[in-house]
Amino acid sequence: MPIHWRVAAWMAVGVVPAFLIFGSRSATAIFALLILAGAGFAALRLRGHVREPLEELTRRARGARPGDTLPSRIRGAPEIEALTEALGEWSEDVAAELGETAAARNHLESILEAMAEGVLVFDADARIVLGNPAAERLLDSPRGVEGKTCLEVFRDEALDRALRDAIEGRPVETVEFRTGAGRVVQASLAPIAGDAENGVETVVAVLHDLTDIRQAERIRSDFVANVSHEFKTPLTSIRGYAETIAAETPGDAHKEFARIIERNARDLESLVNDMLDLARLEAEPPSALDTFDLSTVIHEQVSRYRSVPEAAAIAIEVDCPSIRIRADRERLGTALANLIDNAVRYNRPDGDVRVQASASESMVAIAVADSGYGIPHEGRSRIFERFFRLDRARTRQGGGTGLGLAIARHAVESQGGTLTVDSTIGSGSTFTIRLPA
Ligand code: ADP
Repeated sequence: MPIHWRVAAWMAVGVVPAFLIFGSRSATAIFALLILAGAGFAALRLRGHVREPLEELTRRARGARPGDTLPSRIRGAPEIEALTEALGEWSEDVAAELGETAAARNHLESILEAMAEGVLVFDADARIVLGNPAAERLLDSPRGVEGKTCLEVFRDEALDRALRDAIEGRPVETVEFRTGAGRVVQASLAPIAGDAENGVETVVAVLHDLTDIRQAERIRSDFVANVSHEFKTPLTSIRGYAETIAAETPGDAHKEFARIIERNARDLESLVNDMLDLARLEAEPPSALDTFDLSTVIHEQVSRYRSVPEAAAIAIEVDCPSIRIRADRERLGTALANLIDNAVRYNRPDGDVRVQASASESMVAIAVADSGYGIPHEGRSRIFERFFRLDRARTRQGGGTGLGLAIARHAVESQGGTLTVDSTIGSGSTFTIRLPA
């Protein structure tokens, strides 16, 4: 019932006690009329001061959209005016906050659009929920990637696996993959946690275009391989003639010159062979993985060194149980050959070398330890760089090219493994290959 009717009804109820008090009909009638007039007047005031302002406020609130402000002044009863003012101020605060949020979102969108790197956002089902224009250009997919899964868009299992690892909270590294249009792209994945119960909510992938870099690397590597290949035949010929001259020329001085030519030609041949090995390792992916007994490969490489004269005084010991391993056999052999070669060459004259293998559930480790002079701390990371030698004079004498460890590391890393070094000055170094089991 409207409020003025309610007030009038209550006033009418007041007539009954008035009749009992005044006892006279006319007094009661006048009093009742006055009361009725008062009630009518109060009802009219209530309508103007309460009902109409409330109706106005309701109408404005219904018509308002998010971000609109409500009027802060509507004439009416003081309580209604206070309520209107409070609602007006509140709606202004909400509108200001919505404005700030929209500005921040526009700002972020502008940054995403201006970025040279592609950005894709995946949800917890590995579906793309957002992609910036750079990502769309990189993937040659003008729109239409949103809502699709990673596998549908990229058809790359390694990337899909990495994404699922990120979603499940496992650590992930960068992944390199090829797009349908042949671009080489590197993706760095960053999981973004939701609340504690739901774990990772989204994964942000930042995509870098490596096509030009990889192409330049391939051109460089092809160039090195071609030049090295061209050097091989003339070098073999120079070494052969120098050997013949050294053997057949009378006179010590000429013999010595010919031997120097021969020795240098031999060093150059080693360098050219190492450069070719490295270029081949870089150019080709590992061949199909074989399953074989690790101890056979280790014994093969060790027996080659036992027959080399420089290694005669060095005791080479092997400690390897029979371990079945799945790897690129040739590359593993190349890595081991380089490590054993170094362990022999950089050892003490009567030192020893120990090759030890062990297997756990997830990995196989092969350690090549020597009893040489050790490697200073500052050189330990640099020895894997191409042409880096710690002691140039000594290593050149020993026929080193500075490429052996670069080759070994590449041979191991290209099949998902690692090669690390541990060394103590004065007592020796241990190089460890770790391969996934
Ligand atoms: P190199 O052909 O000169 O031996 P490597 O790449 O195999 O080239 O090794 C790089 C450098 O690392 C070597 O010149 C040597 O100084 C150092 N080095 C490698 N292996 C050992 C080792 N077992 N003990 C001490 N120094 C080593």
